[in-house]
Amino acid sequence: MIRRVAWATVYTLALAGALAPLPSWQVERWYSRGLYPLLQRVLTTASNAVPFALFDILWVGAVAAAAAVSYRRIRSAGWRSGGRRLAMLAIRAAAVGYLVFLAAWGLNYRRVALTEKLAFDPGRVTRAAASRLGEDNAAAMNRLYARAHETPESLSSLTAAFEDAVIALGAPRPVVPGRPKTTLLGGYFHETSVAGMTDPFLLETLVAPDLLDVERPFVIAHEWAHLAGYADESEANFVAWRSRCPRPSTSDRGSTSSRFATGIREPAGCCGSRPGMGTTRS
Ligand SMILES: [Zn+2]
Repeated sequence: MIRRVAWATVYTLALAGALAPLPSWQVERWYSRGLYPLLQRVLTTASNAVPFALFDILWVGAVAAAAAVSYRRIRSAGWRSGGRRLAMLAIRAAAVGYLVFLAAWGLNYRRVALTEKLAFDPGRVTRAAASRLGEDNAAAMNRLYARAHETPESLSSLTAAFEDAVIALGAPRPVVPGRPKTTLLGGYFHETSVAGMTDPFLLETLVAPDLLDVERPFVIAHEWAHLAGYADESEANFVAWRSRCPRPSTSDRGSTSSRFATGIREPAGCCGSRPGMGTTRS
């Protein structure tokens, strides 16, 4: 009886987590700016202690456990009865997994959008402005190409710039940057043009094994933005861009968009993402 009540509670919580209309300002206040930064500090610090991707252990372990349990259930109870039990097991695992995902990171999808927190004027997003940005970026890529390929940016330099960016955007405290790690999923990343991924359970930073030196800083900053609680892809890209261009000013607007295109930070000595790199996912 107690077991049934416990599972009913888990299912109810999972359904509520997926479907209930949570007020974004409450998620922002209590989770994204309250509990989550503390959790991120603990989980990323712990996962940074090992040089390999703990996420690989999670997914390989899950696949192995699913295969072993499926084999045993079907062997002992047959396809029909064993299949029913397996389906129930899968539902339970999905419900628990989803709740862990929400608690560890996923609730950040429900926080207040950056466009509601920053001075965002959609009226300035026009066809003419987009065209100007494109032309400006193309010119900058041609002008700054050689400099961007001179010296790979150090992780410490990227960390300092990223910290500037998230604090400027209102983070309550500095984010613990994830140690960039390769993963057994590297081949899949390569085939599907995925540049990086954030492990949503242990809050690790995973990067594709074939990134160029000029691609790595933007990809890593994008994944760190996810660690900072910016779950939305466009917001993570914005934070990564902000960390490549730490202090834009009105008079600097032209060169800011140029640096966005090339990923080059000022002053010289930094390099960034390859033009067109925008394929990071999580
Ligand atoms: Zn992403």
